[in-house]
Amino acid sequence: MGLFGRRKTVFVDADILVIGGGMAGCGATYESRYWGRDLKIVCVEKANIERSGAVAQGLYAINCYMGMQWGENQPEDHVRYARNDLMGLVREDLGYDIARHVDSTVHKFEEWGLPIMRDPKTGRYQREGKWQIMIHGESYKPIVAEAARKAATEVYNRIMVTHLLMDAGKANRVAGAVGFNVRTGDFHVFRGKAVIVCAGGASHIFKPRAVGEGMGRTWYAPWSSASAYALPIQVGAKMTQMENRIVLTRFKDGYGPVGAYFLHLKTYTQNGYGEEYEKRWYEDTKALVGDYIDRHPVPTCLRNHAILKEVAAGRGPIRMVTTEAFQDPHKEIVGWENFLGMTIGQAVVWASQNIDPKHINPELTTSEPYVMGSHATCSGAWASGPEDYAPAEYQWGYNRMMTVDGLFGAGDTIGGTAHKFSSGSFTEGRIAAKAAVKYVKDMKNGQPQVSEQEYRDLEKLIYSPLENYRVGRNEIVAGTVSPSYLLPIHGLQRLEQIMDEYVGGISTNYMTNGVLLSRGLELLAMLKEDMSHMGAEDLHSLQRTWELNHRLLASESVTHHTLFREETRWPGYYYRGDHMKLDDANWHCFTLSRYDRNTGKWEMEKAPVYHIID
Ligand SMILES: Cc1cc2nc3c(=O)[nH]c(=O)nc-3n(C[C@H](O)[C@H](O)[C@H](O)COP(=O)(O)OP(=O)(O)OC[C@H]3O[C@@H](n4cnc5c(N)ncnc54)[C@H](O)[C@@H]3O)c2cc1C
Repeated sequence: MGLFGRRKTVFVDADILVIGGGMAGCGATYESRYWGRDLKIVCVEKANIERSGAVAQGLYAINCYMGMQWGENQPEDHVRYARNDLMGLVREDLGYDIARHVDSTVHKFEEWGLPIMRDPKTGRYQREGKWQIMIHGESYKPIVAEAARKAATEVYNRIMVTHLLMDAGKANRVAGAVGFNVRTGDFHVFRGKAVIVCAGGASHIFKPRAVGEGMGRTWYAPWSSASAYALPIQVGAKMTQMENRIVLTRFKDGYGPVGAYFLHLKTYTQNGYGEEYEKRWYEDTKALVGDYIDRHPVPTCLRNHAILKEVAAGRGPIRMVTTEAFQDPHKEIVGWENFLGMTIGQAVVWASQNIDPKHINPELTTSEPYVMGSHATCSGAWASGPEDYAPAEYQWGYNRMMTVDGLFGAGDTIGGTAHKFSSGSFTEGRIAAKAAVKYVKDMKNGQPQVSEQEYRDLEKLIYSPLENYRVGRNEIVAGTVSPSYLLPIHGLQRLEQIMDEYVGGISTNYMTNGVLLSRGLELLAMLKEDMSHMGAEDLHSLQRTWELNHRLLASESVTHHTLFREETRWPGYYYRGDHMKLDDANWHCFTLSRYDRNTGKWEMEKAPVYHIID
């Protein structure tokens, strides 16, 4: 097929359609087969499930494991932990549901060949911290993908899903999805009775610290492009806690993880003058958030806050003291291996900057914000909870079904449930799949209908950037600048700048306010208008264009949520300068949004937080 010529349309029918074959998607695919032996289970992935998603290059720890077989932790403990870390606001029903099943997931990983380190004295899994266990995880993703591959009827790699399809016969019911093959350009129409969105979180919403040629160097995977949010948002699914973006404290320039260093190697931090600084900010933080500063462990955002304050006071940089721990040869090995299984780039950065952590304490810094639902943050779709545990108000259908019939989600996609990480995301995929299979079986013959008009209109829209480029390319005035189209990189940089300067990114030290947010929304609206003038020179650019579309929609959602919540609930993640304090009296609640694609308007509302665990 010529790039601009005729392309094939490939039709695929599925009972269960899984979008995204990362951790949650592999879990959903695997479990769908267990409950739906006779069903057609299709997994669609924009990369290749062998090495896709945030776990693509491996991990060194599984961050969510209860250890119930040894009486180490109970699911209730994990709910308390996540609630504390998120300053009181989590969906306890969903969190409990994951925690009670996550151990069985980890046992499966071990059965499938994942090497989990053992404590030689106790024979139990080697703990890195209270919730983390250590693994030799370079091949974590291929191991998990193999289970999904064997369970799926078909896996479609290299298909970027751009839109969901809605049932032509029944309002508010999903009917499938469309997308294109990023290698051949073929148009794909997937008809699905139930759809499980597992498309990961979002990097490159905010301007990253590394720009220019280094812009791919971000903490969250650069290919995590907000499809998990944009796909449901486009069809009117409610979202929750989208303001709860995450900022990570990581080793400077390489984003190397610090968890194993703090927890296992027992390192600590100090300011540029070798002083302890966290205590200095105790009263200041207490004035903002009250007793939350006295909780144990100190919530992640508040630890960021102390760093930001200390640096702003002119006593940076913040350094991690590694020189003591690294004198122990065992700890030195663990320190380096921690990167080799997960973030090799950090070791390379240190080598290039003459940093040997045995002799030099490396710098830490805070990252640009990310939007995701599985780490120490809980942005995502508003989902129905488990029948046996969720309060009535959180139950409107099947477990993990969004507010659109037949549309399920897991992992970064689902909001309100922080700290699920890789194992919890896979587990949530399993939970969603079990419910989706039940949904399909209950549906019997009531199949959703796909409208030809709808997918042909979408086809035209999806490929229009190629056409814009073809028509406008002769008008290029200089380099890549054209008066008649915008390239995806230009659109991305514009988006990142708006989010950075107006919605609380690095250049404002995570500070924003109502005035800035309102202006940010106006600028995002202008960018949205310009999206019909995107030009894509090839299929790669076409993918980048649709990723930008998804990031833009998610960014709008983040901005509306941030404007709606008139308090600073998570100092260290972001600050509302006009509402600097945490306000439990008015804002001990979830924020919900719903986008109307016909009018382009967003509706915001509050939802109650139920504390089910004491
Ligand atoms: C740097 C880093 C370190 C981490 N460290 C740990 C750790 O030590 N321990 C731990 O347990 N967890 C860790 N995590 C968290 C863990 O990786 C995530 O919780 C988990 O991967 C989330 O699963 P997911 O399925 O939601 O997303 P992902 O695993 O990212 O999967 C999303 C999938 O969707 C695909 N996709 C996206 N958009 C589309 C589209 N439009 N069409 C088709 N496919 C699409 C992607 O290619 C990807 O395969 C870490 C994450 C990062 C980034």
